[in-house]
Amino acid sequence: MTGKPVLLTVDDDPSVSRAVARDLRRRYGEDYRVVRADSGPQALDALKEIRLRGDRVAALLADYRMPQMNGIEFLEEAMDLFPRARRALLTAYADTDAAIQAINVVDVDHYLLKPWDPPEEKLYPVVDGLLELWRSTDDRPVEETKVVGHRWSPRSHEVRDFLTRNSVPYRWYTADSPEGLRLLDAAGVDAAAVPLVITADGEPLSAPSDEVLARRVGLSTTPASDFYDLVIVGGGPAGLGAAVYGGSEGLRTVLVERRATGGQAGQSSRIENYLGFPDGVSGGQLTERARRQALKFGAEMLTARVVSGLEVRGPARVVKFSDGSEIAAHTVLLATGVSYRRLEADGVDGLTGRGVFYGSAAVEAPASEGQHVYIVGGANSAGQAAVYFSRYADRVTLLVRGDSLERSMSHYLIEQLRAIENVSVRTSVMVEACQGDGHLERVRLRDVSSDKSEEVEAGFVFVFIGAAPLTDWLDGVVARDPAGFVLAGPDLLVDGRRPAGWPLDRDPLYLETSVPGVFAAGDVRSQSVKRVASAVGEGAMAVSLIHRYLEKQ
Ligand SMILES: Cc1cc2nc3c(=O)[nH]c(=O)nc-3n(C[C@H](O)[C@H](O)[C@H](O)COP(=O)(O)OP(=O)(O)OC[C@H]3O[C@@H](n4cnc5c(N)ncnc54)[C@H](O)[C@@H]3O)c2cc1C
Repeated sequence: MTGKPVLLTVDDDPSVSRAVARDLRRRYGEDYRVVRADSGPQALDALKEIRLRGDRVAALLADYRMPQMNGIEFLEEAMDLFPRARRALLTAYADTDAAIQAINVVDVDHYLLKPWDPPEEKLYPVVDGLLELWRSTDDRPVEETKVVGHRWSPRSHEVRDFLTRNSVPYRWYTADSPEGLRLLDAAGVDAAAVPLVITADGEPLSAPSDEVLARRVGLSTTPASDFYDLVIVGGGPAGLGAAVYGGSEGLRTVLVERRATGGQAGQSSRIENYLGFPDGVSGGQLTERARRQALKFGAEMLTARVVSGLEVRGPARVVKFSDGSEIAAHTVLLATGVSYRRLEADGVDGLTGRGVFYGSAAVEAPASEGQHVYIVGGANSAGQAAVYFSRYADRVTLLVRGDSLERSMSHYLIEQLRAIENVSVRTSVMVEACQGDGHLERVRLRDVSSDKSEEVEAGFVFVFIGAAPLTDWLDGVVARDPAGFVLAGPDLLVDGRRPAGWPLDRDPLYLETSVPGVFAAGDVRSQSVKRVASAVGEGAMAVSLIHRYLEKQ
């Protein structure tokens, strides 16, 4: 990590790209790191790495006419990763359509005509302007959040994962690096206190809880009011969809999320089947845009708050937090999705966060370089993770318990995996044990058809198996199916009879649960389709049903 802010230039003509990079280095190389790319996707990959390393990007210079992804499309996606980076578009000739689009879509700061010779006259004044703008708007304090931790400390991993998934830029230092030691010393603590987080204004926090961390890095954790029209529990696609529609339609809406908005979708490296994104979109980008959209419409978002109870108090629906506090509303939407099942194998619990991870754990990607990564699971989420890690790891093996992938994974993904050289798929195999001294070193696999076991060396195991709704807290309040999924609408009727205790003279509305005014949407709903699009759709639909409920009150 150089620590210098980045100037990134992307042009599909390698000679032009080299020339821009050379001119930029000559003038700005001392204070900025110049990164060049030959295509939009390559530049986005570079930006993601920069982001993971916690470095900052000062300016982006993109060629307009590039195959695959044009300069405006690139800048639009890049803005999701580095909203404060200044933007310039390069074209070979005056192209007014591109200029208008660039101004409307990506709020471009400058429009540069190629060639820019001599740079002293045509390039440097523009870049000087970009950098001056960046320096005046760069939110340095937030950018300077630092995390000092151990490579194999589960809580260090969780803190980094929390910051990454909440789009909070930070720098990561291992506790034994010179800078890590210096920071520990400055905070007056030893390595046992990690993870140590040093906030923007220099406050050291030793092993902070998610809630303390959220508050100190500027995420909202306390509701602004004690009564709302709608409380949404869960900030995945269903909850975000409802927040956008609730906010935009004038409902006083608050969304409560226990970890990071985005839910499962936020962990997806590439969603290729969501309407309107023919080239795919990373789950993080999609859900970060949705979060901004919901905020724009006035919905409130609380992060790092766990909802642990629901109570009916007359016409009010009361949502209780794990710390004992509560908020009330006319209506509640349950959008709590599902979580991964634990891997049942010897030694797993002790190595979770030390080489064994649930979900794709994007923060670990750079560390998997040169390693053999095992991915457990046969569904799309596991397939996407295999594609993603194949870019970093030496080898990736997908471990599938069933005898083929065809039944559990989309065809497009199976084809993609087949085309990647360093990915292999093993079917009829299960993980029997995970072993290692302080961190994962070996995995014992069992072939379920021959019943033979073997031990293999492994640096990382990422688990993507099954999905369980975490709904125990609704016990005795809201009716659920035997697997814990929330029953709603027609699924509540047995032989046409309404659920026990149902107080109204009408059937439950389509997404309404056994408690009038409490709705369910997305993966947590019994019989729902487990997809991003259907979760978003149900979130939107729930708001329209909520209007109907409120009108009748
Ligand atoms: C890696 C991966 C890749 C995927 N890829 C695709 C894909 O390509 N295409 C596709 O269509 N689908 C994909 N899926 C499935 C898709 O992401 C889910 O169907 C979708 O996210 C469900 O949305 P949801 O809002 O219902 O629930 P979730 O996304 O599960 O979100 C629920 C949220 O509620 C929060 N929560 C839970 N309990 C509480 C509580 N008590 N208090 C506060 N907050 C709580 C959770 O932290 C979570 O953020 C993928 C899933 C994964 C894991």
